Amino acid sequence: MSILDRMIAEEKTGLYIGGEWREASDGSRFGVLDPATEEEIATVASASPADALAAVGEAHRAFEPWADTAPRQRGEILRRAFDLIIDREKEFAELIVGENGKAFTDAIGEVRYGAEFFRWFSEEAVRNRGEVYRAPGGDKRVFVLYQPIGVALLVTPWNFPLAMGTRKIGPALAAGCPVVLKPASDTPLVALALADVLEEAGCPPGVVNVIPTASSSPVVKAAMADRRVRKLSFTGSTEVGRLLLAEASKRVLSVSMELGGNAPFLVLGDADLDAAVSGAVQAKMRNAGEACTAANRFYVQGSIADEFADRLTKAMESLQVGGGMERGVEVGPLINAAARDKVAALVDEAAGAGSVMTGGRAPDRKGYFYLPTVIKDVARGAGILATEIFGPVAPIVRFDDLDDAIAQANDTDLGLISYVFTGDERIGLSIAERLETGMVGLNRGLISDPATPFGGVKESGLGREGSHHGMQEFLETKYVGTNW
Ligand code: NAD
Repeated sequence: MSILDRMIAEEKTGLYIGGEWREASDGSRFGVLDPATEEEIATVASASPADALAAVGEAHRAFEPWADTAPRQRGEILRRAFDLIIDREKEFAELIVGENGKAFTDAIGEVRYGAEFFRWFSEEAVRNRGEVYRAPGGDKRVFVLYQPIGVALLVTPWNFPLAMGTRKIGPALAAGCPVVLKPASDTPLVALALADVLEEAGCPPGVVNVIPTASSSPVVKAAMADRRVRKLSFTGSTEVGRLLLAEASKRVLSVSMELGGNAPFLVLGDADLDAAVSGAVQAKMRNAGEACTAANRFYVQGSIADEFADRLTKAMESLQVGGGMERGVEVGPLINAAARDKVAALVDEAAGAGSVMTGGRAPDRKGYFYLPTVIKDVARGAGILATEIFGPVAPIVRFDDLDDAIAQANDTDLGLISYVFTGDERIGLSIAERLETGMVGLNRGLISDPATPFGGVKESGLGREGSHHGMQEFLETKYVGTNW
């Protein structure tokens, strides 16, 4: 029996609130589509604002006992959840493929990456250290405590339905905070499966609540307005992040924001071209380009621009496109029709300002597919360079002056990640210092790791996830001044 069939048979496609599976208070459900077939694979309960408040109530009830639970015990629950996910990695991957569409190998990669946040934060749970020192004036002792902030509302996107959940649940639970998770409407099933696994790992009722909904805005608003909610951790588009920041301002709610990207990928003339091309494919094509870290604009030094474009074209052409569970497939469909149409419109516009080397169209088959595409000599100012493509399309811009290329790379309000390929690490590091992004891949196309601080500058976000910084987002600083 597949994991999805089991979830349906065991009636685990409802809301998970207070350790119980429930239908929505108004009885409504919504459909989940397989992007490769455009067919419904399941329905899930659709939370109402009243359900959101019920979840907040359960989380609030669970807060004190959870915060009081020994850190080691909290850590061991996370560690057991890590083991359970890894034991069932194929099942989880299949569920991801079903609702998100990505290729099975990508989905396995996501399961391993996502589970790792539980292992990492199981180890961080026991490392919440305060500070003690004497004030400079000598008049008092200073104690600094880091205490769990309280009930956390987690809102996640559809592109990494497992990893974006674990990246928030892990640190929140490690810090002692119960959570209410609202997954993306396109991909609610993996979040529900996570709730199930956390229960099996020993998570007490109310510590983790999951509320899928077809109407995100009123549900998230209702939860954010509730005084028992003390934290919003959001991953998604800058556009929605901005709306939620405005909402958060009403209650001066603590927020962490992981928002959109528009990653530049610089290739210098002295770069190892094999490494640059395979790094480019990795940075571009993970999840068919539907990643916030996806390389969005390729700036390539004139001396090697043609060769790089030719080699990248060959590599992109060799990728097999198809349904995520089909044998040998490396590129699945995009998430929905709107996503595919947006990519197609960007390519159509850019085709007039550059030359399409491969792809440039949707294949003739059912599902939201788009072919891996390379566009060479894209003109400065083309719309595709200023927009997060979120699809398998690589626009290449030729440069001759490095300072100008860096200026173009920085000419965006987004600043999540950038990539640099050069044979001279000294020059690479100096470029990394000048790039206005929270992360830089230097001669690497993939740098995401639970042990590192993930996040952006400018309009790409606020705060960091992963590493010890990730847990800090769920802790409040308290200073106690005293004498003894
Ligand atoms: P999105 O902003 O549309 O949705 C994100 C989440 O917010 C979903 O759960 C959605 O249901 C919910 N939502 C949508 N509108 C809302 C509203 N008005 N009020 C409350 N909640 C609302 O983003 P998406 O399309 O799911 O994901 C793609 C975006 O996420 C891209 O921009 C990508 O770069 C970004 N992303 C960023 C990171 C990161 O770590 N920086 C990681 C993954 C994705």
